[in-house]
Amino acid sequence: MNRRAFLTSSCAALIATPLSAASCQFEICRSDAEWRERLSENEYTVLREEETEQPFTSPLNDEKRAGTYQCRGCDLPVYDAAAKYDSETGWPSFFESLPNSTGTRQDRKLVFQIRTEVHCRRCGSHLGHVFDDGPEPTGKRHCLNGLSLAFVTV
Ligand SMILES: [Zn+2]
Repeated sequence: MNRRAFLTSSCAALIATPLSAASCQFEICRSDAEWRERLSENEYTVLREEETEQPFTSPLNDEKRAGTYQCRGCDLPVYDAAAKYDSETGWPSFFESLPNSTGTRQDRKLVFQIRTEVHCRRCGSHLGHVFDDGPEPTGKRHCLNGLSLAFVTV
């Protein structure tokens, strides 16, 4: 590789920094340092790097009380306990999110499947994925990471 080509590719690598404050398109934007201060290491990898927590690890799987689930990134209420059900997948599951609380986009990380990623509308933090095998009344399964949520009882 000649020097010019090397410099060009180095710059391209520097520009492609996902989810940084500079490229933030959400209402709440934080620097990487601020996110790391607010979140535990495991929470950071899920909320900010879109990793998926291990199944059957979240205490929220067994949470059945009435209340609200908030985004751990910004405290926005995102799911109502009334929409929660046991999907037996090992992740907290809901058939719908609260109105105007989440956004979705295509996730092409898996080569064999295009998934629908769901994130917090206000801070962009990754919550989980939405599938079409949920129960009535929506037929949707919002398969969420417990690490992305904070439960608040009524
Ligand atoms: Zn949020």
